[in-house]
Amino acid sequence: MEHKCLRCGMNLKSDEVALYRKLIWREASEYLCIECLAEDLSSTPERLNELIVYFRTKQKCCLFV
Ligand SMILES: [Zn+2]
Repeated sequence: MEHKCLRCGMNLKSDEVALYRKLIWREASEYLCIECLAEDLSSTPERLNELIVYFRTKQKCCLFV
């Protein structure tokens, strides 16, 4: 199923969905893209990308496949 960013309408990658679930709300059914999420978190897309890598490789988080 295709997800779009709640705010800007951009198509989301599965990693962006997973990150949103991990950081914001596990049961979410609507998501923000990495750019909008970074804005909300006063972070940067680069930093969030690093987090995705971290969750996937270090934590082996089940949300990141
Ligand atoms: Zn967006």
